[in-house]
Amino acid sequence: MASGGCDLKGSVQDVDPEIAELIKLEKQRQVRGLELIASENFTSQAVLDCLGSCFTNRYSEGYPGRRYYGGQVYVDKLELLCQQRALAAFGLDSAKWGVNVQPYSGSPANFAVFTAIVEPHGRIMGLDLPDGGHLTHGFMTTTKKISATSVFFESCPYKVNPDTGLIDYDQLLYTARVFKPKLIIAGMSCYPRNLDYDRFRAIADEVGALLLADMAHVSGLVAANVVNNPFDVCDIVTTTTHKSLRGPRSGMIFYRKGIAVALKQAQSPEFKTYAKNVVDNAKAFGEALKNFGYTVVTGGTDTHLLLVNFKPLKLTGSKVEYTLEQISITANKNTCPGDKSALNPSGVRLGTPALTSRGFTASDFHKVAEFMHKGITLAQEIQANSPSTLLKDFKTTLHSELFQPKIDELMHQVEEFAATFPMPGN
Ligand SMILES: *Cc1c(COP(=O)(O)O)cnc(C)c1O
Repeated sequence: MASGGCDLKGSVQDVDPEIAELIKLEKQRQVRGLELIASENFTSQAVLDCLGSCFTNRYSEGYPGRRYYGGQVYVDKLELLCQQRALAAFGLDSAKWGVNVQPYSGSPANFAVFTAIVEPHGRIMGLDLPDGGHLTHGFMTTTKKISATSVFFESCPYKVNPDTGLIDYDQLLYTARVFKPKLIIAGMSCYPRNLDYDRFRAIADEVGALLLADMAHVSGLVAANVVNNPFDVCDIVTTTTHKSLRGPRSGMIFYRKGIAVALKQAQSPEFKTYAKNVVDNAKAFGEALKNFGYTVVTGGTDTHLLLVNFKPLKLTGSKVEYTLEQISITANKNTCPGDKSALNPSGVRLGTPALTSRGFTASDFHKVAEFMHKGITLAQEIQANSPSTLLKDFKTTLHSELFQPKIDELMHQVEEFAATFPMPGN
């Protein structure tokens, strides 16, 4: 027995079997099903190893060479290495760009930027949440300020054209001339197309705003040069590390070794191939879904994600999300251009980074589209047999004797298919 009456040596399995069981179950869930959440990925074993290292024991306030606490010699080396790799991964000249690798995640990174360069209640403009923006870009409704960004700053969103689903840059310019923002944010969580950073730059220059690119979703694709690069024209660029970049999900100092490993991996020719495959797979996936008759917003994708609108099928995003989850396909409901409610959106967002990390090719994504089509076809039958349009009734009908066996059958097919693809990590 170790000191203090606590077992400090035992494994999770020995010390806390309850938590160990949950980890095991989640791992099985990840392996068994098809992961299509566009903001998720499967990180490498090397990154997972770093997340469990002794660096987790340290406090390291300040910057390398200028810490509050002592004993930072290796922490400093680690953070400097991570900075170098961050610059190298995006091909940046250290004479021109610096990097802070300390944020815990994308949201605190954005908030740090806002507080640093915009005064309290200063004006910012980001893509509206229902149009594909992120909560931290200032989302509010007519009655409620939803994000902290909209509480502490004055936010005026820009929109996509509801017919094409594409960002309306003319309207952005028009609004920016009137609103005169201090900061314009070019970034998205559900917009499948390339951002026109040059256009953003021209608008920002015309109204005297700073330009922030939040490349959280696409940073892996930027590192591999398969989508537009924000660094050429933007003043500041923020990102998460756990989406298409495939690193750990946090910028905590302890995890930075993990970020550093992911950033080393992101510079390899293999990663470039990976990122290209991510985009090619998304395009193939989109074509396959269109061939099944689905409405793909903007007609396709330039990136890793697709947005499918189920309004033409009179299904909701929630019903499709729920049905897919029952057949071991994970994706999330999402607003489509023109939706009125963020709580009951008409679309589902799909992303290819995670399954591409498992080695999926374009033809495998055709198969995924086929499984989805079978699931959605079932969802339509379920809807037709459901007493009302409520999600509650939909779920009851799905779990009825009539449909549960069909759902289970499809789930087994999906899991059998998923089992043929190895996971990175063990
Ligand atoms: C995911 C995301 C973030 C925030 O990341 P968290 O890790 O959830 O804090 C910020 N901006 C954009 C555009 C994102 O997609």
